[in-house]
Amino acid sequence: MARHSEKAPRLGAKWRKFAETRCADKGERLTPARLGVYAEMLASQRPLSAYELIALLEQRQQRKIAPLTVYRHLDFLMRTGLVHRLQSAQTYLPCDHPDHPHESQFLLCSSCGHVDEVESTGLEKLLSQIADQHGFRAEDAVVEIKGVCGTCLEA
Ligand SMILES: [Zn+2]
Ligand SMILES: [Zn+2]
Repeated sequence: MARHSEKAPRLGAKWRKFAETRCADKGERLTPARLGVYAEMLASQRPLSAYELIALLEQRQQRKIAPLTVYRHLDFLMRTGLVHRLQSAQTYLPCDHPDHPHESQFLLCSSCGHVDEVESTGLEKLLSQIADQHGFRAEDAVVEIKGVCGTCLEA
């Protein structure tokens, strides 16, 4: 225990359980490094770019971290459904309900940067109907809605 690194932010029991369950389901191993990246993202109030994440981790662990390592952890977290990637902003955020597979819908506030993940089975059904009608096999149906959040509108 001679390392000077700070510990990763504490991960709530609920989120740790999600992470463990998702990894077990996928036959993946939840290493401390992977868990550390996940905890860092949960602690953030807004989505992070890979470089912001690397900077946070380097600051916390007081050492250089290879970007490739962080990208691998991010790939893992996305593969297991614990983290989503926002296509438009090229940032990452932890899934709000990782207990079940789903398509993602996001509300992105252009004023404060907050992102809400919402879930609409009605919309998912509609999107897959549209694809079906065109004989198209959809693989990814992420919806990102840009605008101003309720809190910013009130302020
Ligand atoms: Zn999600
Ligand atoms: Zn806002």
